Amino acid sequence: MEQISKRLASLAASQTLAMSQKSSELKAAGKDVINLSVGEPDFFAPDYVKDAAKKAIDDNFSFYSPVGGYKDLLEAICAKFKNENNLTYTPSQIVVSAGAKHALSNVFLSLLNPGDEVLIPTPYWVSYPEMVKLADAKPIFIPTNIEAGFKVTAEQVEKMITSKTKMFVLCSPSNPSGAVYTKKELEDLASVFAKNPQIFVVADEIYEHINYVGEHNSIAQFPKIKDQVIIINGVSKAYAMTGWRIGYIAAPEWIAKACIKLQGQVTSGVCSVAQKAATAALNGGLDYPKQMTAAYKRRRDMFTAELSKIEGMNVSVPDGAFYVFAEISHFLGMTAPDGTVIKKSGDLAMYLLTEGLVAAVSGEGFGNPECIRFSFATSDELLKAAAERIAKALANLK
Ligand code: PMP
Ligand code: GLU
Repeated sequence: MEQISKRLASLAASQTLAMSQKSSELKAAGKDVINLSVGEPDFFAPDYVKDAAKKAIDDNFSFYSPVGGYKDLLEAICAKFKNENNLTYTPSQIVVSAGAKHALSNVFLSLLNPGDEVLIPTPYWVSYPEMVKLADAKPIFIPTNIEAGFKVTAEQVEKMITSKTKMFVLCSPSNPSGAVYTKKELEDLASVFAKNPQIFVVADEIYEHINYVGEHNSIAQFPKIKDQVIIINGVSKAYAMTGWRIGYIAAPEWIAKACIKLQGQVTSGVCSVAQKAATAALNGGLDYPKQMTAAYKRRRDMFTAELSKIEGMNVSVPDGAFYVFAEISHFLGMTAPDGTVIKKSGDLAMYLLTEGLVAAVSGEGFGNPECIRFSFATSDELLKAAAERIAKALANLK
C-alpha cells in the first residue's frame, strides 16, 4: 500500500517541470511540439566552462568537496559580488548548493519555524510557496496585476506585516512576470524592512543579467538592511548551465553556517567538477551573459509584438528574465471546437498544447489564474512559428 508522508501529500508538483515533461512525451510520440514551458537558456555553456570541467576531471577532482563549496569558487563568487554588484561578502558568507532551487530550500528550512509567515508577491515562481510549506511555515500572498507592472509597493508590504512575519521573498527580475524593481522601489521596500529588523528578505537574483532596462539593483545594496538579506543566485541562467546544478547564497555568516549544517546532513558538497566549471564561468566575466541577453531582447521584442496582435491577449513587455506573462481572461468561458469549455488558465494551456502544439505554463502555478506563461528562451524561428500557432488556436475558440 502506498503511504507517502502527509508533508509530501500536501505538496503540489512543480508545474513548470510537469509541463515540460508533458511536452517531451508528446515530442517522443512524434508530435511537433514547440516547448515554451520550462524556462531555460537554449544556448550551450561556453567553451571555457567545458574546458575547465574537463581539466577538473583530469586533475582528479573526484573526492568529496567541502560542504559549503571549494575555496576558489567561494572567492570567485565574492569577486563577482564586488565587481558586478559593489557588494562586499567574505567566503564565510557564501554557501554553494545544487542549484538556486537547493539554495532556496536550504534557506527556508534553516530559518523558518512552524507558523511563521512568509510574504510572497504574486505572481511568484512556482516553487516558493511549496518550499515554505515544506518548512511548516505559511505563505502569505501579496497580489499584484498587469496594471501595477506585477510589482508590490512598500505600502502594500507594510500593511501585510504581522507579528508572525518572518520573511519576504523578492524575485527581481521576476519569474514569471519579468518585472524589474527600480532602485527607488527597492529603497522604499528596504525602509519597511529597516523598521522591521525581525524580517529576512530572500532576494532571488537568478535573472540579474537578463535585464533589458539597465543595471541590476540588489536590495542588499542598502546598508541598513544588508544583514537581513539573503541573496540567491547561481550560474544556471547567467551562463546557460542549468544542468550543472550550481547555485549559491550570500548572507550573514550565521545563516551561511546554518545552511552548511543542513546541507552537510542532506546532500554534502556539490559535484566537484561542476564547481570547477562554475568557478571558470564566474571568473570569465560578463561577455557571454551579455551576448545571450542581446538575443533574448531581440526575441522578446519580436514575440511580444506577435502576441500583442492577438485579440484578447493582454501582453506587457517584460523588463527582465525570458518570460511573457500574458493575461488571458478574455478566453476563459470560451468553447473549443471539440466542445470543451476553457474554464481556467490550465485548460487554456492544455488546449494550446493539444490543438496548437505549443507548451506553456498555466498561471495557476504562479498564483495568477488569469494569466499564462510563455518562455522566449528559444530560437527566433520557433518563436515566430509558436506565435502563429497560438494565434490560430485561439481564433478557433468560440
Ligand atoms: N529561482 C527562479 C526565479 C528560477 O526561475 C529558477 C529556475 N527555475 C530557480 C530559482 C532555480 O534555479 P536553478 O536551476 O539554479 O536551481
Ligand atoms: N526556471 C525554470 C522555470 O521556471 C526552470 C524550471 C523549474 O525549476 O521550475 O521554468
